[in-house]
Amino acid sequence: MKIKNYINFCVLLLLFTGCSKDSLNNSSGIDKSANLKALGFSANQLISDEKFTSLKVEVVYVTGFEPTQTTLDNLKTFLENRTFKPDGISITTRAVASSNKAPFNITEIAKIEAEERIEYNAGDEIAVFIYFADGSNENDTDSKTVLGTSFRNTSMVIYEKTIQFIADHTNNSDRTNIESTVLNHEFGHLFGLVNMGTPMQTNHENSEKKGHCSVENCLMAANFQFGGSLMNTIGNNTIPVLDPLCIEDLQAKGGR
Ligand SMILES: [Zn+2]
Ligand SMILES: [Zn+2]
Repeated sequence: MKIKNYINFCVLLLLFTGCSKDSLNNSSGIDKSANLKALGFSANQLISDEKFTSLKVEVVYVTGFEPTQTTLDNLKTFLENRTFKPDGISITTRAVASSNKAPFNITEIAKIEAEERIEYNAGDEIAVFIYFADGSNENDTDSKTVLGTSFRNTSMVIYEKTIQFIADHTNNSDRTNIESTVLNHEFGHLFGLVNMGTPMQTNHENSEKKGHCSVENCLMAANFQFGGSLMNTIGNNTIPVLDPLCIEDLQAKGGR
């Protein structure tokens, strides 16, 4: 299957800066401004316990496009291994109706977030919003498919319909492993990797793909391609992990 060779994970250079006019939702009185910053802005806040001692992950999915429970368990383990959150990490899930906007651009996804997101930073708890979309990114081509995008400091979209299509059309891959790889990778971007808010201790940024790691098979490598080593990795039922250089960066930034 041709698609195997060309799956790319994530586009991340779509940086959103918060618009202060919109940051205060007057009807609810919730101050959303802290969650409307650029990607990488909250790296330290997400991985350390300096400002926030707990983390709430709000997973919102269109009915029929929810992640597997094992994916969510894997995410929790990944987060626990890399962050200091002594008051805990919680993941909530909620189904919503389709927006009927697929395929999506990031402006549309940000609009959906404004409508559907409930959890924002409060007290010593930081909140992350993840939207599991019932469609693809509108820029997908036969040779390039986006599976997820971190588009703000605490916001990401996962193109679950695309993931399900890949899982259904490749022999070797398990949907949970694809979901976990994409989710963990996108969280790496929220954590400021690579060199996107979290400074490198050793140079390991991919010179051609900003924000990605030059170490082969690292979770933050730029082009995970199912035809290559990642396909073998997923086929072996393992999820790519962060290499020591990425972990060193997180630890220097206050993470685990
Ligand atoms: Zn990426
Ligand atoms: Zn790395």
